[in-house]
Amino acid sequence: THFGYETIPEAEKQGRVAGVFTNVAESYDKMNDLMSLGVHRLWKDYFVSTLNPGATTPLGHPQKILDVAGGTGDIAFRMLHNSHVLNGNPNIELTISDINPAMLEVGRQRSLALPAEQQSCISFLEANAETLPSSIQDNSLDLYTVAFGIRNFTNMRAAIKEAHRVLKPGGVFACLEFSKVDRFPLFNAVYKQWSFSAIPLIGQLVAGDRDSYQYLVESIERFPTQVEFRDMIVEAGFDVAGEGYENLTGGIAAIHRGIKP
Ligand code: SAM
Repeated sequence: THFGYETIPEAEKQGRVAGVFTNVAESYDKMNDLMSLGVHRLWKDYFVSTLNPGATTPLGHPQKILDVAGGTGDIAFRMLHNSHVLNGNPNIELTISDINPAMLEVGRQRSLALPAEQQSCISFLEANAETLPSSIQDNSLDLYTVAFGIRNFTNMRAAIKEAHRVLKPGGVFACLEFSKVDRFPLFNAVYKQWSFSAIPLIGQLVAGDRDSYQYLVESIERFPTQVEFRDMIVEAGFDVAGEGYENLTGGIAAIHRGIKP
């Protein structure tokens, strides 16, 4: 069953995405480890290290960050660690937003294990990335992150526009997402086999939910190429440096970055 981005009705897509993440919220972490053989942790570590939250000039200067589709806090908690522990800058304000209350609840529970001074920097916001609430003001943020979220959005262009609206001039849009393996045909063949056969099966066995994981694999397949996605970021008004993206693990994932002029 293949449905393109253009043909799937909006309401149906939004409903389907909500269902998927309500079903997977509980088993989410375990499944990520199994599906990526643990590599998602390395990608997330690297993503956050390249953004280096808390490294402000002057040091200790306040920094406002929004982690969109932040679900279980995987990116946000790493950013807090980077800022507080590595950069010695506790002066960051971090909002974790997600459309799905079940995913946010997992993040809220997990955040209770953080040191108190880190917990006090976080707030949680239930919001659709395509229409962020007016409480997130124009030109108000230093950094906008979205990791493994944007391919689930019904209207990615609307979300990138919203990112552009809420970032300050000089603010950074950063996206970590599954992408395309294009230069290594053999590696791609193995990866495709893994995605289409093993992942739905693991979903069935471990999470008791084959369909949700089938959906995740198909959403990766439908996502634009690195260059197409880079062009969407540029169309929304961002500047990019160099190619505008960096491939991870041969392009299984990629980091895209844009700066608001
Ligand atoms: N960022 C986390 C990570 O890297 O582990 C979570 C990623 S999870 C695969 C994708 C998240 O996107 C889910 O929590 C889902 O609820 C959220 N999501 C899907 N559509 C959304 C939308 N339109 N606006 C905001 N969040 C959305």
